[in-house]
Amino acid sequence: MAGQLLPSKAGAGDSSGSQRESSKLVELPVQCYTHSEMARRYLIDTMGCQMNERDSETAAGILEQLGYEATDDREQADFIALNTCAVRAKPQHKVFSKLGELRRIKEQRPHTIIAVLGCVAQIAAQEIAQRAPYVDIIMGPRNYSHLAGAITTAQARADGDPIIVTDTTEVIPEGPPAAPTIPISSYVNVTYGCNNFCAYCIVPYARGREQSRAPEQIISEIEQAVATGRQEVTLLGQNVNSYGEDLPKACDFADLLSQVNRVKGLRRIRFTTSHPKDLSARLITAMAELPRVCEHLHLPIQSGDDEVLERMGRGYTCEHYRRVVEAARQRMPQMSITTDVMAGFPGETEEQFEHTLCAFEQIRFDQAFMFKYSDRPGTRAAQMDNKVPEEIKQQRLEQLIACQNDIAHQINEELIGTTFEVLVEGRDPKSPEKVRGRTRTNKIVIFPGGSDLQGQTVEVKAQQAFLWGFLGEIAE
Ligand code: SAM
Ligand code: SF4
Repeated sequence: MAGQLLPSKAGAGDSSGSQRESSKLVELPVQCYTHSEMARRYLIDTMGCQMNERDSETAAGILEQLGYEATDDREQADFIALNTCAVRAKPQHKVFSKLGELRRIKEQRPHTIIAVLGCVAQIAAQEIAQRAPYVDIIMGPRNYSHLAGAITTAQARADGDPIIVTDTTEVIPEGPPAAPTIPISSYVNVTYGCNNFCAYCIVPYARGREQSRAPEQIISEIEQAVATGRQEVTLLGQNVNSYGEDLPKACDFADLLSQVNRVKGLRRIRFTTSHPKDLSARLITAMAELPRVCEHLHLPIQSGDDEVLERMGRGYTCEHYRRVVEAARQRMPQMSITTDVMAGFPGETEEQFEHTLCAFEQIRFDQAFMFKYSDRPGTRAAQMDNKVPEEIKQQRLEQLIACQNDIAHQINEELIGTTFEVLVEGRDPKSPEKVRGRTRTNKIVIFPGGSDLQGQTVEVKAQQAFLWGFLGEIAE
C-alpha cells in the first residue's frame, strides 16, 4: 500500500481558532493487518452533529481496512477515539472530562491508542496535548485521509508526543468506503466546511472553507449505499443551498436532488442544513416535484429579530424567513418545518427576545433545537459587548422551550387519525414487541410489529401524539 503523508511533530497545529498553514510533512509507511492476524478492536465515541456521525463512519471504515473490529467495551479496545464537537463550550468541556477517564485505560493498557478527532481537535490541539499528554493522535475534521498513517505510526512506537494533523486548508479527497452505522439509512456528505462565518459560530474555523463534492461521486456513493440495503439517504452540508458554487460545471442543489432522485432502488431523500438566505424557489419546486424527496425542511431561524439577525451576520430578515416558509408550505401543505434557535445572543434585549417568541408562535415549527448562546473564542460574537447574563439566557431558553413544546404537541394532536407512510428502522429499544420508524415528514412513529418489518414502508395510523411523534397502529 502507498505511504501516507503526515505532519512531523515539529509542525503540529496551534490551538487558536484561526485557519492554519499546512504543517511540515514526512512520508510514513502504512501497514495493513489482515483478519488472520489477532483482531484489534476499536471504539469511536461520537459527540455532536450528523456530520460528526458521518465522519466517524469514515474513521471506522479506515480502521476496518487496517483490520480492526468494532467493540462497545472500552476496556477491550486497542484504539479509542473521541470524535468531538466545539459548537458550544459545554461539549468542548466534556471532551476534557472524557479524556480524564481515558487516562486510567492508557496507564493500565499502554498499547491502547487514544485519538481525539473532530472540531475540538482542530481548535484546541495544543491544549489537548498539554492537558492529556497520553493522547496519541489529534486530528482535525478535514484530515482523515491521514488517519491510517497516523495509526500505523502510533502502533510502531511506545510513547512520544502526539501526532497532530490540523490543516483546515486541505482539500478532502474521495476516501475509502465508510462503515455505516444505520441499517436502512446513510449519511452522504455533499459539502464540507462553511463560508458563512455567522458571528457566533466556530464551524468555519474548525471545518475550513466550503468544498462541494462532484455530483458523480455523490451518486456513486448513494448507489453503493442502495446496493448494500439502504433505502434512505440524508445529504449533509452546513449549507446545502450553496452546494455547487465552487464546482467547475454548473450544478446547484436542486439539480443534484433531481440526479439523486433518479437512483434506482432509493426510496427517500432527506437533506440538512438549509440556510434561509440561499434557499431558492428552484429548490422548493424540486422538493415538491421529486417524489423521493421528503417533505421536511430543517431551516434554522436563530432569532426572530432583524437587528439580532443582522449582528449575527445571517444575511436575511425575519420577513424573508417567513416568505420562504410560506412558499414552501404553499407547495407542500403537509410538510414539516424544524429549526435551530439561540437565546441570549450578545446584546439581545427583552423586546428582541419577545420577537423570537412571537415568530415561534406565528410560524409554528414542528420541532426546534434550542440553545443558550455560548461564547466561542475567536468568533466575532465573542468580542461583542453586552453579554446576556447566564440566568437571563436560562430563563429565555426555558420560555422558548415551553412555547415550542406547546406548539409541537398541538401540531401532532391535530394529526391524530392521519395515516402516514412509515419507513421502519427496527425494533423500538424500549418495547421489543414494537417497531419504530419515521414518516416522510421526519416524525417518529412507534407501533406493534416484528423485526421482519425493518426496511419496509408501512401505512400506520397515528393514535397518540407526543412531542417526538406518535404511537400508532398498522392501518387497515
Ligand atoms: N449550518 C447550520 C446553520 O446554518 O444553521 C448550523 C450548524 S451548527 C453546528 C448547529 C446549531 O448550533 C446552529 O444552528 C446554532 O443554532 C447552534 N450554535 C452554533 N453556534 C452556537 C453558539 N456559539 N452558541 C449557541 N448555539 C450555537
Ligand atoms: Fe455556522 Fe453559520 Fe456556517 Fe451554519 S452557516 S455552520 S451557523 S457559520
